[in-house]
This record gives sequence, structure tokens and C-alpha cells, in this order.
Amino acid sequence: MKQLVLLFIVFASSNSFSQTIIRRDPQIEKMVMDVSADSLQSYINTLVSFGTRNTLSTTTNPQKGIGAARAWVLKKFNEFAKNSGGRLKAIIDTTTIAANGKRVDTPVLLGNVMATLKGTDPDDKRIFIISGHLDTRRTDVMDRTGDAPGANDDGSGTAAVIECARIMSGHAFPATIIFVAVSGEEQGLLGSTFMANKAKNENWDIEAVLNNDIIGSNNSNETNIVNNTKVRVFSEGIPVAATEKDIAKIKAYGLENDSKSRELARYIKEIGERYVDNLQVMLIYRIDRFLRGGDHLPYLKNGFTAVRITEMNENFTRQHQDVRKENGIQYGDLPEYIDYEYLRKNTALNLANLANLAKASSVPQDVKLKLKNLSNKTSLSWLPPKSGSVNGYYILMRETSSPVWEKKIFTKENEITLPFSKDNYFFAVQSVNESGNESLPVIPEASRD
Ligand SMILES: [Zn+2]
Repeated sequence: MKQLVLLFIVFASSNSFSQTIIRRDPQIEKMVMDVSADSLQSYINTLVSFGTRNTLSTTTNPQKGIGAARAWVLKKFNEFAKNSGGRLKAIIDTTTIAANGKRVDTPVLLGNVMATLKGTDPDDKRIFIISGHLDTRRTDVMDRTGDAPGANDDGSGTAAVIECARIMSGHAFPATIIFVAVSGEEQGLLGSTFMANKAKNENWDIEAVLNNDIIGSNNSNETNIVNNTKVRVFSEGIPVAATEKDIAKIKAYGLENDSKSRELARYIKEIGERYVDNLQVMLIYRIDRFLRGGDHLPYLKNGFTAVRITEMNENFTRQHQDVRKENGIQYGDLPEYIDYEYLRKNTALNLANLANLAKASSVPQDVKLKLKNLSNKTSLSWLPPKSGSVNGYYILMRETSSPVWEKKIFTKENEITLPFSKDNYFFAVQSVNESGNESLPVIPEASRD
């Protein structure tokens, strides 16, 4: 089903403004249509068949436990690699975690299953990551033998990672995409901490991390809400990694609501709603839910940009529960409670965003908001991106109290003066290429030059 997305952009040329609408990129539209509810269901059924995927479970049994599960994910990635022209490479990245007196009581060889789709532009160092966690838990997080199906937590996120790898490995992108199913989430975010620390130490140029955790069920317990048309994106406000200098700037310019992760969340909403029908992205201005954490946190602590994507309504009779019946209620995270059409849409949301980001050129550089004189206008300037070709730039604009960008103004220049006061609006700049793929927005630095 094709539809035009009715987001108007304003073209600024020789002092006149004309309006047009942003159309879908046909290549991304095709990939989105390839996302299959049946594929997702088959991945989850296989994941559940391993009995438990607890991080402390067996790694030697070929049919049961985390070892068998990660070997299977690696096998899937290697199948997809055959159609990638040598660009997709998969490994199990391992590390030994010592007993820590918390959720690890014996040394464990932890493994993240990771497939890297190398970018085609050698000058483009950017990396985009989609992450889900392979491990599961029972009511007792230390129970490593009893069944812990984890169909939704986080079979759903893992299935989304595998499905995106299947489809995207058949396409070429200038930037690199990493598809990863981490371990050790339930034992204390161990796999994502290992990966985020490594990325920091090795200076990976990570532009965005999409952490998918619990994205496949459409209903709540207690309040009995059923809905498969909304999904939540959690993003931090004041960055956890902000320095005192960063915080002083945030206070001075009112940037409490413009962290890089929040800009990523806004981007995910715009692009997701452009490509995925009947799915509304709800921005949650919080790092995570109460009492909960997730695999985006180690990236944020290391100063990277990351969000958590989670279903709209959670059912707590399913999460972290032993499979059992009590007073007529079925407990446990079973595959029959997944809404595969909903999971298809949430997977497509990820795919559309990864594709748009990895196709776009990198962000405009040295973006400045000029403060030299008191003025009721707004002057911005910037330099071309480090990599990729640009057709032009979008200036994004919103009222200070608006949650999302309200205007996109197109220009081919490297500076612009707008008849709106910088005191009354927020602005940002994106690069946009010939096929309409836009980079993440950059909030300008206030400059007195
Ligand atoms: Zn989880």
C-alpha cells in the first residue's frame, strides 16, 4: 500500500518560499515491504526451542541453552552473508566475566553475536547499531536450567535484529551497520557494557544505537489495553555523560530537551511514520521505565547516542515469570502471546531508520548560530559533511515548547538568515542527499564571531 507522507517542507530560494512534500525513498520502501511476520515468528519459535537462554546456562549442549542459541544466530548471519557480496561478516565476540557477587556466581564466557555490514564508502567511518538481547531469565535470575522462553523479552528484539540483517545485507549502504544480539542483559547489562566499552576504547564512530527490548506484545495486564498501533522510544534528557561545561551550556541556552539521543528519538518518529503505516511513535522523555534498565545505557555512559525502543503496553504476567498457571492465569513469556503483525511494524521502524541513516551523508559540520548582534532574525552557517554527497540541507525549526520539529526548510546554501527570532524557536541543520535521505540533525553552537 503506497501513501504519500504529508510532511510539508519549505523551499527557500531567492527570498521566496514554496512548499513540497517529502516522498518515500523507493529502495527503503521496498526493504520495509520485505519485513515478514512469518520470518519473525519462525525466529522466535527457534529461540524458544532452546529451553533457556540464561547467560549462565550451558554452552556445550547443542540443543539447549545460551551456547546453542548463539550458535544458531551466528549460523543465520552466515547464511545472509552469502548474499552480501562479502560485505557482511559475523562473529561471536566473547569475554570472560568473573563471578561478581551479584548476578554472576561463577566465571562465564559471555558472547555477543554480531554481524557487521561494511559500508561501501571507505571515507565514511560512521557506524549504526541495532541491538537486542539474546539472553532470558526466570523469576529467579540465577536459575540457569529451568525453561525461560523469553519470546518477547527479548526474543522479539533479537528477531528484529536478525530480520533487519536478512534484508539489509542484500543492499549496499555508504555507512556501516552492526546487527547484534548481546548476552548478559538480565545479569547486569554485561554484553552491552563489554561492547560499548570496546567501542569507546577503539574510537568507533557510532552515530546511533537502536536498542530493541520487548517490542512484540500488544497488551497490558491490569488495565487490559490492547493496541498494536503505538510504540515507545525512550531517550535521555540531560545526557548521563554530560560534563559540567556541557551542563552549563544546556542551562544557558535551554537545551534540556535537545540531547543527541532525543534528536535521534525525534528522527526515529519522523522516519518511522514516513515508512510504516499504522504505527505511531510515542516519544518518552525518560532514559527508561521506572525500576528498569537496558542495553542503551552503557552506550550513553560512554557518550554515544542511543535510545530504547519498547512496546506501548507491557504485560507483567509474562515478563521475568516462570511458566505456570495460577488462579486461571497463564504466566510466562510464551510465543503465543506475540502479535507478529505488531512485531513486523516495529522491525520495519528499525529498518527504515537504519537505512535512511546509513544512506544519508554524514551530518553538516561546524553548525553555528550567530550571536554577533542583537537581532530579531536568525542566522545559521555550516560546512559540508565529512562524507557523502549532498543535494542540500534542511533547517529544522520548532517552537520552544513543541516536542517535535515543526518546519523543514530546504536550502542549497551553507548559510541562511531566517525572519524568525532565535529567542523564540529552536533550530537544527540536517544534510540531505539526492534520494532525500537526511542525516541526524545538528543543534548549532552559539557563536559570537
Ligand atoms: Zn529485556
